[in-house]
Amino acid sequence: MENKESLNLPGYEIPDELKNVVSVTALDRLYNWGRRSSVWPLMFGLACCAIEMIAAQASRYDLARFGMEVMRPTPRQADLMIVAGTVTKKMLPAIVRLWNQMPEPKYVLAMGACASSGGPFKEGYNVVAGIDKFLPVDIYVPGCPPTPQALLNGLILLQKKIDQESIRKVRWYRKGPDSVEIPVPILGPDLIDPRRIPDIKAKAAELASTPAPATQS
Ligand code: SF4
Repeated sequence: MENKESLNLPGYEIPDELKNVVSVTALDRLYNWGRRSSVWPLMFGLACCAIEMIAAQASRYDLARFGMEVMRPTPRQADLMIVAGTVTKKMLPAIVRLWNQMPEPKYVLAMGACASSGGPFKEGYNVVAGIDKFLPVDIYVPGCPPTPQALLNGLILLQKKIDQESIRKVRWYRKGPDSVEIPVPILGPDLIDPRRIPDIKAKAAELASTPAPATQS
């Protein structure tokens, strides 16, 4: 349970007899306090890291202390995507689609070496070398796998990040490029990011106009 003291602005002394009923705070602090104390993660796992994420949810580590015990099976009700495990090229379009279906405010935590960089499968033909190539990652948790304690540390860092936000500047109340949906990658012979299609076409045209090297007879 969140400590009521963290809602109060430092520097304002409240008499002991009023501490249970009075808070002196700022709108930003109240707004952030409410969100940081009820971050609901999306319930899915991709590989071995997910087992550690499940352990973090169980009684020994107990995410309920952070108000994060409600793992949602639908992206419509989730605030946090924990990418726990190896991201394959086949799975990536589904992950990006889920991300687009989550309402703002939403955050991404890359759990483990695979989600952060491809990990031991980085050079694999079927693996994406880091989910941050497609989604805006807020927190990276290193390890292979990270322990539940490391995940808890990452979640505490996320809470600290939320504490720094201001209701006047958060992206979900603004128009512009920040609020644009991320395009779902296309699965072809390889994985294509639709944002890079003009580059791909320009490169293909450049290669087509380059004369082929003469062959030796
Ligand atoms: S980082 Fe290690 S433990 Fe986590 S999914 Fe990759 S191989 Fe498995």
